[in-house]
Amino acid sequence: MDRCPSCRARLNESPLCSRCGCDLGLALRAERQSQNLLRQGIQAWAAGNPDLAASSFDASLALRHSTLAARLAAKRSELRRELFNRQDDIEAQRNDLITELEQQLQHQIQEETLFTIEWELN
Ligand SMILES: [Zn+2]
Repeated sequence: MDRCPSCRARLNESPLCSRCGCDLGLALRAERQSQNLLRQGIQAWAAGNPDLAASSFDASLALRHSTLAARLAAKRSELRRELFNRQDDIEAQRNDLITELEQQLQHQIQEETLFTIEWELN
């Protein structure tokens, strides 16, 4: 946060605005926490934990909107949709293969009389 959201004065290190006296301590803490959650989400994604990454991006966005967090969350959602679509495709292919195999394994039994033997006991 570079400027006071109330009066737009440029901020220094103090949590109090030098112009209007607004206490920005909570807002600054929320901003820092949002950045930490964003960093945590990126690290989680890099470590192969997309679920933790998604929840971190969402939590970061809930505290403060940032373009980077929004784009990362959107990209993560897009990849998740693609994954689900691929899983659906693979399951459909698997079902087709099973059906094909079942048809190949079905024995077709046909009865046909080839000849008849008769005998007599005396
Ligand atoms: Zn101010």
